[in-house]
Amino acid sequence: MATRQDNTISNIKTLNYDAVIVGGGGSGMRASLHLAEAGMKVAVLTKVFPTRSHTVAAQGGIGASLGNMSNDNWHFHFYDTVKGSDWLGDQDAIEYMCREAPKVVYELEHMGMPFDRNEDGTIYQRPFGGHTSNYGEKAVQRACAAADRTGHALLHTLYQKNLQQGTEFFIEWIALDLIKDDAGNINGVIAIEQETGTVAVFQSPITVLATGGAGRIFAASTNAYINTGDGIGMAVRAGIPLQDMEFWQFHPTGVHGAGVLLTEGCRGEGAILRNKDGEAFMERYAPTVKDLAPRDLVSRSMDQEIKEGRGCGPNADHIVMDMTHLGVETIMKRLPSVFEIGKNFANVDITKEPIPVIPTIHYMMGGIPTTIHGQVIVPDLEAGTDEDGLYAKGNVIKGLYAIGECACVSVHGANRLGTNSLLDLLVFGRAAGKHIVDEFHHADHNYKPLDPRVLDYTVSRLDKLQQSTSGYNAQDVADEIRATMQTHASVFRTQAMMDEGVAKILALGDKIDQIHLADKSQVFNTARIEAFEVANLYEVAKATMISAAQRHESRGAHSVSDYDRPEDDAYAPNGRNDNDWMKHTLWYSEGNKIIHKPVRKVPLTVDYIEPKVRVY
Ligand SMILES: Cc1cc2nc3c(=O)[nH]c(=O)nc-3n(C[C@H](O)[C@H](O)[C@H](O)COP(=O)(O)OP(=O)(O)OC[C@H]3O[C@@H](n4cnc5c(N)ncnc54)[C@H](O)[C@@H]3O)c2cc1C
Repeated sequence: MATRQDNTISNIKTLNYDAVIVGGGGSGMRASLHLAEAGMKVAVLTKVFPTRSHTVAAQGGIGASLGNMSNDNWHFHFYDTVKGSDWLGDQDAIEYMCREAPKVVYELEHMGMPFDRNEDGTIYQRPFGGHTSNYGEKAVQRACAAADRTGHALLHTLYQKNLQQGTEFFIEWIALDLIKDDAGNINGVIAIEQETGTVAVFQSPITVLATGGAGRIFAASTNAYINTGDGIGMAVRAGIPLQDMEFWQFHPTGVHGAGVLLTEGCRGEGAILRNKDGEAFMERYAPTVKDLAPRDLVSRSMDQEIKEGRGCGPNADHIVMDMTHLGVETIMKRLPSVFEIGKNFANVDITKEPIPVIPTIHYMMGGIPTTIHGQVIVPDLEAGTDEDGLYAKGNVIKGLYAIGECACVSVHGANRLGTNSLLDLLVFGRAAGKHIVDEFHHADHNYKPLDPRVLDYTVSRLDKLQQSTSGYNAQDVADEIRATMQTHASVFRTQAMMDEGVAKILALGDKIDQIHLADKSQVFNTARIEAFEVANLYEVAKATMISAAQRHESRGAHSVSDYDRPEDDAYAPNGRNDNDWMKHTLWYSEGNKIIHKPVRKVPLTVDYIEPKVRVY
């Protein structure tokens, strides 16, 4: 392969694959496994060793209505997810996910995933926020768990199965851009190897983006440092709009000051949030499920307690989570990592004292719009709008799929329920795999050489950095992005704050164009990678800020104090406005254009769940 030093377009080596998957996390490896099992030649590119992808940090569990420990079925799971999404999720996709859930969990069990077990040998399930039995009556045990290391067990299981099936891993290879031809089809990716600075083309009729979240656009985050939204940036640069980016989930229990996550499984096992008076305040905000209310509601309640002067600590700036009553045995059996995190990041022995927590950014509900088969789909702008002014028709982008946290199917709508992300990775990783295998059998398998022009754009990005003599440091600009997002796209938003945030983010555009790479070396140059990452962070931040400023209601995680309940809308608690806003947002980078499209209201086999007041 050619190295950057002698790089001309004709020197860049091309590797051909039946499918190229960017991302070796839970979603990427679930899809690659399906393809490798079907005999396809599959490349998985990943920034880090696959089992270090952020999925490894998932603690709490995978949602599936196995009903091992309480009365449950997929209809209840479907209802909870629709309600949790504040009716912004597409009900066909949610139905598909909840129906498939038990199957994907049993598949994992048969692959050898070491789930915790009940006495009778069935998979252990714990309660989780927003998951209920009998349509909201009481909390249900639905989260299939391997202690508080579920993601770790999942990722190792999938990695081993992939090795068995011959998936080829390209580790520490960083994808830079999608390769788009004149017809708008995607033909693979161009990528750089961190170790050597080598650039190569991975040509393929199928490209799957599985690059995970982008929580690093915020200053305080539970996300890994690698979660910089690279797949999102790649899609945006290929002209693809992003869906529902205003919706970012704050997890109620990040360790105060450190940001490290303490799983919702803590509250699943019985932990209680308390204010400075020791009051279990969630009883006031969610009388039925209390501490097991969904994350948007719990985060807002915590913020409210702090705002009203009932925060803990000398600065009254956090809440505490109390697990002292659970007993040492339960904590060491069910929450051993949480015990370690308490010791190492908060200097607290959770068996003896409560631990300081604060809502911390955790999950991106929006992303690259897809069908339930993972195909990337964009509205057909030429086909025009219907009588409501909405774009109803979509075009599938040939050769491109997106799965996992970087995709928006959309099953999480305005607020994701805990455990539904690991489930999303498995269900839609597998669904995309199935669709790709079907397509592959009908495809033309002769690779035609790429027109070298398709590489011009990325090579010019590489050269611009390499030849830079002055400009801005990538990490300084990334810090400015993070500070802006932290202040202007927070748990509670106001229109003025968001408008100011848009102006501040747009003003950073010049700096992004003038990033200076001081270290020009080829071997393991992490500064070069960071310079590419900041361009991706910027696209995610712009999409978030602009989409947020243009949604004039409160829904799920997007809580804007300016928008009161419209008087003519009986279903609008806390400013949700179903008359005007049962719509997805789509943001286009070009011209920062926003359009809206209708929420898909038709489930596959059951009745539509009508919107109602979302109380717990
Ligand atoms: C601390 C924490 C705990 C969580 N706990 C739970 C839980 O208990 N239950 C639940 O349902 N959800 C949980 N979540 C959410 C869930 O874990 C994530 O949404 C999910 O794991 C994301 O998986 P993914 O496959 O989309 O991406 P990831 O697992 O993040 O993997 C992304 C992959 O893409 C690769 N990549 C990225 N950019 C590039 C590039 N440019 N080139 C090449 N490769 C690239 C990375 O190397 C990586 O392999 C948790 C999240 C966090 C942060």
